[in-house]
Amino acid sequence: MWYDEMVRVVGRPKLVEERIMRIEIHRERCIGAGMCVLTAPDLFDQSEDDGCVVLLNPEPAPDRHEAAKQAESLCPSGTIEVVPDED
Ligand code: SF4
Repeated sequence: MWYDEMVRVVGRPKLVEERIMRIEIHRERCIGAGMCVLTAPDLFDQSEDDGCVVLLNPEPAPDRHEAAKQAESLCPSGTIEVVPDED
């Protein structure tokens, strides 16, 4: 099949992966460590009131998906969750 040959030569198309990302925050878990802000300051901020995370962009552009995943993996409290969009 031409599609299988294309995937073998150039890799799987990223369009499917790139359009299915949404960030959810479980704010009650946040301990204010700030790793998310250091990792992706365009996606996350910290509240001046309690130091907890503020989500700036729940649906990042494809070129920020990797940063969102990195912030999810670095968060020590499991506050950040990157989930597939249901659309
Ligand atoms: S979301 Fe995670 S990394 Fe960000 S401030 Fe809260 S605990 Fe720290």
